[in-house]
Amino acid sequence: MSKLAILGGDPIRNTKTNPWPKWPVWDEKEEKALLEVLNSGVWSYNGPKETAFNKSFAEYTGVKYAISAANGTVTLQMALEACGIGIGDEVILPGLTWQATAATILDVNATPVMVDVCEDTWCIDPKEVEKAITPRTKAIIPVHLYGSFADMDEILRIAKKHNLYVIEDCAHKPGGEWNGKKAGSIGDIGSFSYQLSKHLTAGEGGSVTTNNFELYEKLDALRNCGRRPEPESSAKADKGEGVYFDAGNFFQSGNYRITEFQAAILIEGLKRLPEQNRVRDENGIYLNSLLVDIPGVMPMRRDKRETKEAYFNFAFRYNKDEFKGLPVQKFRSALTAELGIEVAASYTPLNKCSLYVPLTKPARYKLNDEYWAAIDPARFDLPVCDRIHFEESACIHHKILMGTKADMDLVAAAIKKVYDNAESL
Ligand SMILES: *Cc1c(COP(=O)(O)O)cnc(C)c1O
Repeated sequence: MSKLAILGGDPIRNTKTNPWPKWPVWDEKEEKALLEVLNSGVWSYNGPKETAFNKSFAEYTGVKYAISAANGTVTLQMALEACGIGIGDEVILPGLTWQATAATILDVNATPVMVDVCEDTWCIDPKEVEKAITPRTKAIIPVHLYGSFADMDEILRIAKKHNLYVIEDCAHKPGGEWNGKKAGSIGDIGSFSYQLSKHLTAGEGGSVTTNNFELYEKLDALRNCGRRPEPESSAKADKGEGVYFDAGNFFQSGNYRITEFQAAILIEGLKRLPEQNRVRDENGIYLNSLLVDIPGVMPMRRDKRETKEAYFNFAFRYNKDEFKGLPVQKFRSALTAELGIEVAASYTPLNKCSLYVPLTKPARYKLNDEYWAAIDPARFDLPVCDRIHFEESACIHHKILMGTKADMDLVAAAIKKVYDNAESL
């Protein structure tokens, strides 16, 4: 048995001589597109690149409308506002997600209601959603986490029964499919992030998607200081149906616009995405087939209805009992040393997340005592999220899935090496 890299042995992968695939991916096509924008002088505001990207992203996602925006946080906020959600309303979300999913609910003065997730997909548990519904519930935000899909059939059934909006947080899912339908085309609104780590990126950026014309017009206005869509860019005007807002009847909103530089990069990135997703899906399936043979690690459950996978992270579950009691933190450190790429924990459950503590902002959020108590994250109990985060999770950036089958063999070999040497730690 060779010595673990964390104890000074040779790593399974020497990333100096054999680096992982790089992220982000770009070439002279991005360079050319960026220069085109630069030289045009049209750097923002409904420019040709933005318009073209919106059209391509809507087509790719299988929706009527896509609107790009500054990032995947404001897209969630815009989605909530477009649905008319605000003071007095409750929004149900999973306890295991990036803090933005909850923070934006606060930013529209609504109340985040955190529920537990399924232990084998880490996505929102529909049974817990049903239990959390009250007369104040207005929306559910399922998050398609890492490489998993929330059970959209159940979420839609519950939403229909209780007349709720469904806002899909698709920050991890551009291109992923559930029953042949793309993430972001299933609920009322889809929200996407193009932050640098995400698998379609412009450094920063985001999109909202919808099939609903009224929501589309509101979303577009919310993005653009409350201006209603310009008639020529309005789909309804295209159909000769006039516009939804009367002239002069503007929204009040902020500026959440994207730039032409971001849109130029996104246009090229979107062309690469289907093939990149295909490679990651193929490698993910292969790597999971190897994990099955190693005691103490378990692939995420892939639902049969997930017809195309899209990975933000490759995630799997760890059981220390099979690793001679080795705590997951030590397992991840040892694996990180073998692979030369960070093996991270899942998101921190939001009821314990130091980036999500609304009670530090009374000037903004203390609307009244009742609201102040309702937004205290400590009031939620999320045992499955806790177990995943503190005991079971291992997550690796999607770029490890962008190489070859031999790369996947190395990942499995590294896990096996830690398994074989667990006693030495
Ligand atoms: C990245 C992310 C967001 C926010 O996107 P930004 O573009 O970083 O603002 C929202 N939800 C989830 C699940 C994310 O991973």
